[in-house]
Amino acid sequence: MDMTNHGAEQVTELLNRLLPGGVFGSYVAGQLMAGEGETISLINPATAGEFMAYQDAHEGVIVAAAEAAEKAQKLWWAKAASERGRIMYACGQAIRQIDEDLAWLESISAGKPIRDCRVEVAKVAEMFEYYAGWCDKLTGQVLPVPTSHMTYTRHEPIGVVAQITPWNAPVFTCGWQIAPAICAGNGVLLKPSELTPLSSTVIAHVIQQAGLPEGLVNIINGYGHTAGATAIAQPQTGKVIFVGSPATGSKIAQAAALRTIPSVLELGGKSANIVFADADVDRAVIGAQAAVFSAAGQSCVSGSRLLVHSSLYEQMVERVASAASRLQLGLPWLEDTTVGPIQNAKQFAHVQNLVAAGVAAGAKLVTGGRGAVVGGELGYFQAPTVLAGVDNAMQVAQEEIFGPVLSVMPFTDEEEAITLANDTRFGLAGAVWTADVGRAHRLAAQVRAGTFWVNSYKAINVMAPFGGFAESGYGRSSGYEGLMEYTQTKSVWVETAAQPAAQFGYSIS
Ligand code: NAD
Repeated sequence: MDMTNHGAEQVTELLNRLLPGGVFGSYVAGQLMAGEGETISLINPATAGEFMAYQDAHEGVIVAAAEAAEKAQKLWWAKAASERGRIMYACGQAIRQIDEDLAWLESISAGKPIRDCRVEVAKVAEMFEYYAGWCDKLTGQVLPVPTSHMTYTRHEPIGVVAQITPWNAPVFTCGWQIAPAICAGNGVLLKPSELTPLSSTVIAHVIQQAGLPEGLVNIINGYGHTAGATAIAQPQTGKVIFVGSPATGSKIAQAAALRTIPSVLELGGKSANIVFADADVDRAVIGAQAAVFSAAGQSCVSGSRLLVHSSLYEQMVERVASAASRLQLGLPWLEDTTVGPIQNAKQFAHVQNLVAAGVAAGAKLVTGGRGAVVGGELGYFQAPTVLAGVDNAMQVAQEEIFGPVLSVMPFTDEEEAITLANDTRFGLAGAVWTADVGRAHRLAAQVRAGTFWVNSYKAINVMAPFGGFAESGYGRSSGYEGLMEYTQTKSVWVETAAQPAAQFGYSIS
């Protein structure tokens, strides 16, 4: 593909087709609304050159979005549940119709290999289809109270929710949060990362065309401290769902608490991938690579700490490093690329600094460890990197790197493996590779993490709840639990007795 002007021609052509109607900005009440704030550059991560720019949303945009969401939410919730389900299913189908275009838009702007973008777009369609099925199954309960009341529960929408998402998986996190929110009957203000606003904005338009009321889903494009903070401050906003870094998550939770509204935090991780001596080593090597090098390590569940039984340690280090050096680090738009660039310059510097800190602290650089020039481009390419001899107390083992960097550490027995796995402030995910079924279950019970895999890594689906323990956050996304985050439960008490019982302290004369 010819990426003249860093993909500007391709992006312009895609946006003209997918999002007609004016200057790029926020998507409010079914229209593009240009911002008036600071100009924000969009940089192609593979070339480090600007392909587009837009302006930060000003307060008026966000006020209009909150009003539109409030109005549309009432219309949406008034529809029959089965009708909402039909429309949500149509949203999934509409996304499938533009899947290739969406994948390209994501690949150019997020720098992800095109083959990964295709998978993520398909997952987004699946999210709308899955939650379409929940719309008319969101039932309450009838409670057998010991009085003459008929008492039942209703799962009602929150009203308007604010969602704030990161740059590492823009299209995925957009569908991940919008689908359950509207399934439960809410209106949405979603603020994607300022670095990757395009795919979310197109999705909002496409699903609105599929039948959602105008203004039900609004995309606010701008910086976090301006547009994101203003979205949380809107009086209509009843809950904040945040996907991003722990440092920002803490600020978001504080801003929500100041308004006495709840939040869900989906934050980072430092997950342990544990290989025992009885593991199928061939599969464990493939699993270890997929765990940390896919998405160039820019994944919250990245298996960035590989804990290996000491009897296998040298062999695993050598095999994982050899496999890493053979991965296809390349331009995201090439079909055979498996590892693309880091998404932005700041993150690229962070990855390199942490690798350097690891080496300075005594870790051995087995492969990778530097930025690479790929295809003659000057983008943010980091070669898949393996560090051996890492001590779990080192910064490289404790801090989220969010890049293709694996720290390999030995352990001698099960107890030490569990201790090392849990010696982290995070608790997002983990895995064990073993042939011992009892050990697999013991590890699954004792490793402190919201998701745990046995002889597998990174399997996720919209049906299974996902979220963090400890500083990886709180609340859940996906599945029934994720849907419940977007509801509030009401208990309804209906007196059925002709003469209400005296013990309730009142009588009707
Ligand atoms: P980030 O925290 O820098 O930004 C995330 C979002 O918050 C962006 O949209 C940003 O504009 C916004 N923001 C920043 N300051 C804000 C403020 N004061 N008020 C409101 N909004 C604000 O995160 P990032 O660098 O974009 O993403 C990488 C992080 O995301 C990693 O830590 C990764 O682990 C995490 N992540 C977690 C999950 C998960 O499900 N647990 C999934 C993907 C990414």
